[in-house]
Amino acid sequence: MEHRLWSSGASDKNKAMVEQLQRYGVIKSGKVAEVMEATDRGLFVPPGASPYYDSPMSIGYNVTISAPHMHAACLELLEKHLQPGMSALDVGSGTGYLTACFALMVGPEGRAVGVEHIPELVASSIENIKKSAAAPQLSDRSLSIHIADGREGWPELAPYDAIHVGAAAPQIPQALIEQLKPGGRMVIPVGTVFQELKVVDKKLDGSVSIRDETSVRYVPLTSKDAQLQAN
Ligand code: SAH
Repeated sequence: MEHRLWSSGASDKNKAMVEQLQRYGVIKSGKVAEVMEATDRGLFVPPGASPYYDSPMSIGYNVTISAPHMHAACLELLEKHLQPGMSALDVGSGTGYLTACFALMVGPEGRAVGVEHIPELVASSIENIKKSAAAPQLSDRSLSIHIADGREGWPELAPYDAIHVGAAAPQIPQALIEQLKPGGRMVIPVGTVFQELKVVDKKLDGSVSIRDETSVRYVPLTSKDAQLQAN
């Protein structure tokens, strides 16, 4: 059983997790490794779970925090679109872990926006982020989390250089394509039983190309009622 932040060595365990993802070739970018090292996953996983174990974990409300290798893979796919000063949208921000990583990638001159439809998760994600390396960015408002239906994106701060969707949609929501900047990239799991992680690139002329990266298994991007009634 792993321990929580008050145990000694939490950051060592987080570092070991990042090093393992580097050894497996999931993390290639030095910046992604640095940001995942700075963002202690133990601060985002509920007590009793094993934050550094490479598996999804329940966070209540019928959903999970994604496995570390999926967070790493999405950061890698989006890295060029998470440069300092850029803006990023994280749909289904859950624990806030990846939104915090996005904030560190884009820095205080950039903008990291999380959208999550469970108000309790939004509240706890803000508490998690307050304990993390991204805390100053909550205060300077370069990081914000909003209660909303993420299928509509977050038009107030659009367009985005990077969009990540942390739940699987039956098809790609049109609003999210619209909120992608020309030159921007979205990573989104699509499907119901069988899902593909899709990489959506919007070219400078506004045309869109879509490719399949890998097969995945995410919880559904759905209505709040459908999610809470699941099982
Ligand atoms: N990426 C996050 C959470 C992944 S689970 C993490 O790793 O911590 C997917 C999240 O999407 C859940 O928190 C769920 O509540 C949320 N979600 C599902 N459908 C949604 C919708 N329509 N709008 C906003 N959030 C949604």
